[in-house]
Amino acid sequence: ARKRLLKLKKTPAITRDGTTITLLANIELPDDCPAALEAGANGVGLFRSEFLFMGRGAQALRIPDEEEQFEQYRKAVLAMKGRPVTIRTLDVGADKPLDQTDHTALNPALGLRAIRYCLAEPQMFLVQLRAILRASAFGKVRILIPMLAHAFEIDQTLGMIEQAKIQLRDEKIRFDEGIEVGAMIEIPAAALALPLFVRRMDFLSIGTNDLIQYLLAIDRVDYEVAHLYNPLHPAVLQLIASTIATGHKAGLDVAVCGEMAGDVKLTRLLLGMGLREFSMHPAQLLAVKQEILNTDLGVVTTRTRRILRAMEPGEIASAVEQLQTL
Ligand code: PEP
Ligand code: MG
Repeated sequence: ARKRLLKLKKTPAITRDGTTITLLANIELPDDCPAALEAGANGVGLFRSEFLFMGRGAQALRIPDEEEQFEQYRKAVLAMKGRPVTIRTLDVGADKPLDQTDHTALNPALGLRAIRYCLAEPQMFLVQLRAILRASAFGKVRILIPMLAHAFEIDQTLGMIEQAKIQLRDEKIRFDEGIEVGAMIEIPAAALALPLFVRRMDFLSIGTNDLIQYLLAIDRVDYEVAHLYNPLHPAVLQLIASTIATGHKAGLDVAVCGEMAGDVKLTRLLLGMGLREFSMHPAQLLAVKQEILNTDLGVVTTRTRRILRAMEPGEIASAVEQLQTL
């Protein structure tokens, strides 16, 4: 079966009725790029940059400086040979503590993490933005911002990106002037107030891992509530579907980069919701592609509309199972 999948590496991901789907890879370090290419990824949809900052052993107390970050981002960009690389800015706190951060927060998932942390540490954030911008001179780079919820956070972030650009221009350092900036949609408030985002952003990426955690109020790393973590909860499905629809209506690309995107049991459901861009661990990519190749989008879209109106978990679960047998 694995051999048969490997044959699909160069096959474009097109549904039976002719719609092309973009399949991207989630990576943690530039060294993951060969695996992404091996799986036939169209690019990197999520480079979790925090992995450059974490687990640094003896260097743990030292944050990678601009040169070191730049080298790593450029390495990923060059490795992907012209394919887009979406670099997410630092997402630390909660389940990904940075050694320098405060471990005493009672609710780290609700605390000073990701963009909140970056905006509280503007000097550190500026270093990362400069490094990402510099890497954009070497290929197609996109900037992705995690955990945004408020308009002022978007505006402050865009202001800092502008500041980094002004510095680089002054220093005559090259970068892509047209670099796209996108938002992770992973806080329910962001999904429900999406017009704030589509007005200010170039693309969206739905982080279902956190979106589910916050929408269902269950800690994603607490095994005692793991049984409540249900991607098929009707509230979750409706929020994902409305985010995709509203984003598309505004003309933005919308991806899903949480675990749901790499679950073949959910591929047709997401296609039926209108999703055209999936970002996942490279190991899942070819199986998802195979599912796409076997999918009739028209049929799946009609079925999914019905699923989105359903409320009873049993009904939803069996309808999603049914989708796979079509
Ligand atoms: C997510 O929240 O779905 C996501 C992709 O980001 P992370 O898992 O790194 O929080
Ligand atoms: Mg997240």
